[in-house]
Formats: sequence, C-alpha cells, structure tokens
Amino acid sequence: MSDVRSCPKCGAKAKYKLKGNIESFEALQDDELLKKVVQLKKAMQKFKEKAEVLEKELVILKQKQSNT
Ligand SMILES: [Zn+2]
Repeated sequence: MSDVRSCPKCGAKAKYKLKGNIESFEALQDDELLKKVVQLKKAMQKFKEKAEVLEKELVILKQKQSNT
C-alpha cells in the first residue's frame, strides 16, 4: 500500500515517497482516487449486509429465548 498524504504545497492528496533523505509527493491520479472510493464503498456495503444478518439472527435468538 502506498502512503497517501496531503501535499504540503497544494494540499491535494498525494503519494508520499522517501528516497534516502529526499521526500517527494506525487499527485494521485483522479481515477486512482476514484478506485479507492469505490473499494471503500464496497467494503462499507459488505459490512452493512453482515450487520443486517447479525441483527436478524439476534431477533430470532431473542424470540427463541422468550418462547422457552
Ligand atoms: Zn501539490
């Protein structure tokens, strides 16, 4: 994974690189940023679906408990 930081000159998101003692900031391509956003959204969606499944299981468990 690349180290993404804010460029000290323009404040935009940039890849941070350190070679020897030289720091460099390479501007992130828009589509690269977009891909990261899409990845994040997919991960969020999976997380949400898992949470919903767990919630349903919890409701079923509670119903079973109150029936016995
Ligand atoms: Zn910059």
